[in-house]
Amino acid sequence: MALESSRLAFERARRSVGGGVGSGLRAAMPPHPLFVHEAQGPYVWDLDGDRYTDYVMAWGPLVLGHGDPRVLSAVSEVAKKMQVVGTGHPLEYRAAEAVLEAVPHGERLLWSNTGTEAVQVALRLARAATGRRRVLKFAKSYHGWHDTVYAGMSEDDCDRPASPGGPGQSTSVLDDLVVARFNDVQLAERLLSESVERDIAAVLVDPVMSNAGVEAPAPRFLSTLRTLCDRHGVVLVFDEVIAGFRIARGGAAEKYGVRPDLSVFGKAMAGGFTQSAVVGRAELIDQVTSGVVHAGTFNANPIALAAVEATMRVLADPAVYELLEQTSSRFEALVGGALGSSPDFGRFNRVGSLLQYVPAGGATGLHGTGGLWTAILEGMLRRGFLFMPSGKVFISTAHTTADIEATAEALDQLLRKS
Ligand code: PLP
Repeated sequence: MALESSRLAFERARRSVGGGVGSGLRAAMPPHPLFVHEAQGPYVWDLDGDRYTDYVMAWGPLVLGHGDPRVLSAVSEVAKKMQVVGTGHPLEYRAAEAVLEAVPHGERLLWSNTGTEAVQVALRLARAATGRRRVLKFAKSYHGWHDTVYAGMSEDDCDRPASPGGPGQSTSVLDDLVVARFNDVQLAERLLSESVERDIAAVLVDPVMSNAGVEAPAPRFLSTLRTLCDRHGVVLVFDEVIAGFRIARGGAAEKYGVRPDLSVFGKAMAGGFTQSAVVGRAELIDQVTSGVVHAGTFNANPIALAAVEATMRVLADPAVYELLEQTSSRFEALVGGALGSSPDFGRFNRVGSLLQYVPAGGATGLHGTGGLWTAILEGMLRRGFLFMPSGKVFISTAHTTADIEATAEALDQLLRKS
C-alpha cells in the first residue's frame, strides 16, 4: 500500500482543518491518518484505490459494517420526507420503543446526539434526583471529552484530587469527581460508605473498561456497586456508549445480570449515524418535565432515528449476536494466536465484539498504545489492514472468516520479519 495520496491529503487538510482530521484522537495514526473515499461492508478504500480490511469501524458505531442496506434504505426513505423538524414525529417514539424493548431496565429514554452529551444528561439527572454534587468514576475510563469527566485518567488519581485530562480544561469542576479503581471492590466500598459526607450523587462506570484495556468486570464488582448505590442513595450509571448493543443486545444489564438506574448508549445503537440516548428508570428521566434541562437542536433527528429503528430491527435477531461472537472469537484465536509465538508480543483482551491489544507487561493508552503496537499498526496498514492507535478492535457482522484468516496470516508474516 503506497499511502501516498493519504499523505498528500493530510498535508492539505492540515492547512484548513485544525489537526488535519475531525477528532484529535484520530491524528495519532502512524505514519499519518488514512484518507478514505469509499467504504463498504468490512472494507475501506483509500484515495489511491487500495482496499483495507477495517477494524476501526468508525470507533465503534458500525456493528453491521459499512453501508448496511437495511439501515441505508430506512434513512434514505425518511430523508426524502424530512430532515430535522424541531417538533415531534413518530420515529421519536417508534425508535424509543425499539430500544426500550431491548434493554432490561429500559422504562424511558432521552435522545441526544453524542455520547459526551448523553453522559452529561445522565449526571444532571442523578444530581437533580439526589441533591448531591459529586460523581464517582474509575481511573482511566473515558466518558467523553467534557471537563467534568475527561479527568482522573490515571491510576494516580485514585482517592485523590483528580487531575484534568488535558490543558484548557476547567479545574474548578475537578472537585466534582471522586476517582476509584475498576474492579477494586474494597476501595469502592470505602468511598461509597461516605457518600453523604462526600456528596456523591452518581457512580459512573463503563462496565467493561472499553477504552482502557477492555477488562471484564470481576464477578462481584457490578453487583456490589448496585448494592452500595442502593444502600447509600446513589444513582448507578452504566456508560455503555461503546459496549451497548455490542457485548449483548441488552447491554451490560443482560450480560452481567446487574441493572443500573441509567445507561448511556450511542455508537452501535444507530448503526453509523449520530445518535445517543440515556435509558433507564422513568422517575429519573421524567425529571425533564419538572425543570431539569435536556436540550439540543438536533436531538431526535428523524434521519438518525430511522437508523436506530432499522438497526434495532436487525439486532433483534439472536443470530446476529451468535455471528458476532463466532467472528470475534475467531479473531481472538487466530489473530491473537499470531501474537502467541512470543510472550513479548502482548495479547488481545475481548468482551463480545470488542477487543483491545494489551502489550506485554504494559498498559493501553487512549491516544495510542505505543511500543510494539505502533510497529504492528503501521506494518498492518501497509499490508491492507486498518487498526486503531489505541489497539481497540471492532468486529462487525460484515467481517468474514476469510477476512480474519487473512489478517492472522499478515500479522504472522509481519511478526516473523520483525
Ligand atoms: N463514553 C464512552 C465509553 C466512549 O467510548 C465515548 C467515545 O468514544 C464516549 C462516552 C463519548 O462519546 P462521543 O464520542 O459520541 O461523544
